[in-house]
Amino acid sequence: MELTKHVPKRAIRPTLVATGKVDVLRELVDALLTGEEEELRVPVLEQVVSRESLESTALGHGIALPHARVRGLDDLVCAIGVSKKGIDFRAVDQAKVHIVVLMLYPPSKQSVYLNFVAGVVRALHRPERAKAVRDAGDAAGILSVFEEAAHETHHAERAAVGEKAGVEKLEADGIAGTELFLLARLELYRDMMDGSARGKAEIERRVADIRSLVSKRVLAHYDRLCRRGGAALVTVEGGICQGCLVKLPSQLAQKIRKETDTVATCGHCNRFLYPL
Ligand SMILES: [Zn+2]
Repeated sequence: MELTKHVPKRAIRPTLVATGKVDVLRELVDALLTGEEEELRVPVLEQVVSRESLESTALGHGIALPHARVRGLDDLVCAIGVSKKGIDFRAVDQAKVHIVVLMLYPPSKQSVYLNFVAGVVRALHRPERAKAVRDAGDAAGILSVFEEAAHETHHAERAAVGEKAGVEKLEADGIAGTELFLLARLELYRDMMDGSARGKAEIERRVADIRSLVSKRVLAHYDRLCRRGGAALVTVEGGICQGCLVKLPSQLAQKIRKETDTVATCGHCNRFLYPL
């Protein structure tokens, strides 16, 4: 997941000072944006808070993923905060939030963001891992939980590729949202192929591996979307498809938020939807 590349040590808060939702968001934004980027703090906080007012980014199980698309950043940056007491984030399951992962990314890094968030969701899906983050006590401990999760998934994936076992094998290994996670990776590699001349053979090999794990039906639809051009996987924010900006039927919007490992498509633009 290349977590350390995106998470500066100073932006990991093993013990959040703030207790209210907006104060916590401010604490994390301030920790993340320093130096030249300090001037972005106020507008970014406004953006993050307004995103929250649209619909809580709490996933349930004590985890929230606030985020904003920010012009003026070079790359995705992420802050992680832990609250022992818990924060009222207006989560769907009404549970207090103990782990807050704040992500800010420039518009040009949409696929990096999707891939990153899919990795975070997958890492925290197991309750014992979320507990390990809560109990870690320091920044190095928190990072190592995420790194361990990434490592484990990598090995499960390699094994599945070797056995040509497909997505079912990964799901049996308890890797949540597998197909969405794999689609996010395919999108990232598609962007990388468009961008750089170097390392194309290696990317092609990885793409072939991932494709061997995705179900045929999903892959066929993915290829159709790629031929059409533009993003094939888009987020849903506040019930609105970010690919075509059409509001999803509320039943579908609720369903994909609850069942984060099912792959759904927008009825209007047909793109795959990532509920965030
Ligand atoms: Zn759409």
